[in-house]
Amino acid sequence: PLIMGIESSCDETGVGIVRGHELLADEVASSVEEQARYGGVVPEVASRAHLEAMIPTVQRALEKADVSLSELDAIAVTAGPGLAGALMVGVGAAKALSAATGVPLYGVNHLSSHIAVDTLENGPLEGSAIGLLVSGGHSNIIRVDDLALKTSYVGETLDDAAGEAFDKVARIVGLPYPGGPVIDKAAKEGDREAIRFPRGLTQAKDMKKHRYDFSFSGLKTAVARWIEAREGSEIPVNDVAASFQEAVCDVLTKKAVLAAQEMDIDTILLGGGVAANSRLRELLHERTAEADLNLRYPRMRLCTDNGAMVAALGSHLVSAGLPASELRFPTDSSLSVDTILIGD
Ligand code: ATP
Ligand code: MG
Ligand code: FE
Repeated sequence: PLIMGIESSCDETGVGIVRGHELLADEVASSVEEQARYGGVVPEVASRAHLEAMIPTVQRALEKADVSLSELDAIAVTAGPGLAGALMVGVGAAKALSAATGVPLYGVNHLSSHIAVDTLENGPLEGSAIGLLVSGGHSNIIRVDDLALKTSYVGETLDDAAGEAFDKVARIVGLPYPGGPVIDKAAKEGDREAIRFPRGLTQAKDMKKHRYDFSFSGLKTAVARWIEAREGSEIPVNDVAASFQEAVCDVLTKKAVLAAQEMDIDTILLGGGVAANSRLRELLHERTAEADLNLRYPRMRLCTDNGAMVAALGSHLVSAGLPASELRFPTDSSLSVDTILIGD
């Protein structure tokens, strides 16, 4: 099927078009430079930027894919989770396009899209996978039995998301927002064994109750304390970045591999903005190889928010024969990770 995906849950206005698993267009307008001035995403700024960028981005995607609106088999739009006002811009636009053209509309989960986008790169997913979903607002281990029909909750972060930890630690060491890419870069020049930062929820007592859960706020505090204790002297930013990044990636990969082994699932599927992290990919390669597991992830460009991922999920929903959403469906800023398609 020919599907358009619309994404506006945070600060990227994304419109993608796919035919089956084939990517035809992936247009993204971002307010990240404007947001960087505030050191993080300001919801009102994001909503306004979406309103300005939405229709031009839709038009660019249609031109790029060389298709017209009426040729689409469906439109998929992010209904949640995300910033309430930002979501409403994308959903409002998608409803208007659907109402005007009669093209069916699917209101979908942003997190499911981060997982489904992998199929644009690696083709259909055969069998089940353990999804490691790591982004700016979420860090989850989920069990993926069917990309369109069944994903279930396995574990989550009890406090900060992995991406959030990258962003906060960047700020602590004086690097710009968003922190993920700059820490990744700084870490390449640093020694990841320079400082032994804590690995949250990996002690024996935590492994009973929170076997597949994460915690990153203690790590962030440990970095802040380490810096404070050295006030006045020069901070080895690259070593701090590398050692912090290692602590995050160590826990993420260990728990994902453990979940796969204990649930007898042979594939790990990585998704979300932090999936762009080069050390996370490297460590996952090592550890999945050791454990004889398959590893799948999308190219970096498709890890952070975009419309192609929403279109990829829409394509699965249509292929699975699921009915479109009623046009009155709401946005849900805290939509749960196991709801793929929003109800009405
Ligand atoms: P969510 O998907 O949970 O709603 P979001 O959409 O804001 O949150 P994404 O766009 O998926 O988040 O990811 C953005 C996050 O990814 C930011 O926190 C950013 O710092 C992080 N990130 C991006 N590139 C990298 C990288 N190379 N290494 C680590 N983190 C990264
Ligand atoms: Mg973003
Ligand atoms: Fe996201």
